[in-house]
Amino acid sequence: MEGEAVDAATLRRWLDVLAARLSERADYLTQLDAAIGDGDHGINMDRGFRAVRERVLDPGNEAPLDGLLKGVGMTLLSTVGGAAGPLYGTFFLRMAAQAGAKDRLPAPELAAALAAGVEGVRQRGRAEPGDKTMLDALLPGVETLERTLAEGRGLAPALEEAAAAAEEGCRATIPMIARKGRASYLGGRSAGHQDPGATSSAYLLRALAVAVSGS
Ligand code: ADP
Ligand code: MG
Repeated sequence: MEGEAVDAATLRRWLDVLAARLSERADYLTQLDAAIGDGDHGINMDRGFRAVRERVLDPGNEAPLDGLLKGVGMTLLSTVGGAAGPLYGTFFLRMAAQAGAKDRLPAPELAAALAAGVEGVRQRGRAEPGDKTMLDALLPGVETLERTLAEGRGLAPALEEAAAAAEEGCRATIPMIARKGRASYLGGRSAGHQDPGATSSAYLLRALAVAVSGS
């Protein structure tokens, strides 16, 4: 559909859906991290997105679209810690910079902003696809979004496909041997477990699909 766009209200709904999901799944994410890391990923992400709800999603905050995303990035940098804090912080800061000061983000620009966020994660973490990290969910998710939009699909179905691709990418981390982060200390023993960061990244894209289809 031509002319589809997201506004600050849709992004706020995205962040709220994501915060709720991370809170619900905090124990599960922590269990995944306990198997191949130090068991704090769920706690870290829930803490960060609780802070996002308080500081950024406050109804009195009338920040424009890029200000909202920048606020999320800064909040995550200062509250999440671990490996995921700087990586997700970078994701939202790069997304804000790419989005720019606009009231509405047309679908291809939303995809470009997400792609810039993913590129930021790749640069900051120096991971590649197959290293068993968040990138293994984010990259297929955003590539699917770009391809599906280019085929002329509407934003809601394109995001649905993107979320499904991220979920598949997340499951595909199970047999992988971690080459980045704490899980890499386990070497071959990291195989057989789903990566916690890829799991939270799949939630991120699923929450966006939910927020947009509900608008
Ligand atoms: P920590 O490992 O410091 O305890 P978290 O548990 O919050 O941090 O996050 C772990 C997740 O971070 C991993 O599951 C992985 O997806 C992601 N991660 C770790 N290192 C990298 C990296 N270099 N690049 C991309 N993602 C990474
Ligand atoms: Mg951890």
